[in-house]
Amino acid sequence: PAFLEIQQLSKSYKNGDRETVILKDVNLTIGEREYISIIGHSGCGKSTLLKIVAGLERSTSGSVLLEGREIRKPGAERMMVFQNYSLLPWLTVRQNIRLAVDEVSRGLSAAEKKQVVNEHIAMVNLNAAADKYPDEISGGMKQRVGIARALAIRPKMLLMDEPFGALDALTKSKLQRQVLEIWEQHRQAVMMITHDVDEAIYMSDRIVLMTNGPEATIGEILEVPFEH
Ligand code: ADP
Ligand code: ADP
Repeated sequence: PAFLEIQQLSKSYKNGDRETVILKDVNLTIGEREYISIIGHSGCGKSTLLKIVAGLERSTSGSVLLEGREIRKPGAERMMVFQNYSLLPWLTVRQNIRLAVDEVSRGLSAAEKKQVVNEHIAMVNLNAAADKYPDEISGGMKQRVGIARALAIRPKMLLMDEPFGALDALTKSKLQRQVLEIWEQHRQAVMMITHDVDEAIYMSDRIVLMTNGPEATIGEILEVPFEH
């Protein structure tokens, strides 16, 4: 089977007797080492789709299969990076990353976990901020912590909701390059939401456009046939 298969996925919300359709019969297949970007206007259902794949939201019907098995709950094999970072404010940068590593890496010794955490802090150039709290660092730094935390877990699949949004141009291009370098080493599947078409072309193997008229649909518009 394909690495990830989204089949006839629909999602709607009920408000009294009114039903709002967010996703309708979405089909999408993603390869094991594929980096795809999802673009589409605000409110068309991109975050909802990603959260369903992450297991954070339930679909109304249809299925999501990871390596042939149905996804129902969040799991360490699929890590999501949120637009709002979702760092725990009472933990330092280092502790935020360590907590995530502790949750998934039960086979590692304390020394090995420490090393994984340090490697990932260095990878996103956060050495100077490692012992600071989220409130004490910039938005761009928080975003880097969110990405480092997700990568430290070595997920089979990385789900990113506008990971480079709201960064200044320099930080953005540095972080994009770092993520691509890491991806080239590990080649896990990536699904990334972005508003930036240039970013989608630069980062991904394939771009998926989501549209919604009366009913949400999803269509692949573009293959990006170059090697990074
Ligand atoms: P995008 O990520 O493409 O901007 P979202 O997936 O965040 O879109 O949202 C798609 C639509 O679903 C929006 O119109 C949003 O208002 C609606 N929506 C999201 N969550 C809920 C909810 N819990 N109840 C009702 N509507 C929701
Ligand atoms: P939105 O952009 O639609 O407001 P959020 O990015 O705030 O969505 O997150 C959606 C939900 O996922 C929230 O309820 C949040 O608490 C939860 N959440 C955020 N980060 C994580 C995480 N790392 N693991 C599990 N759930 C999370």
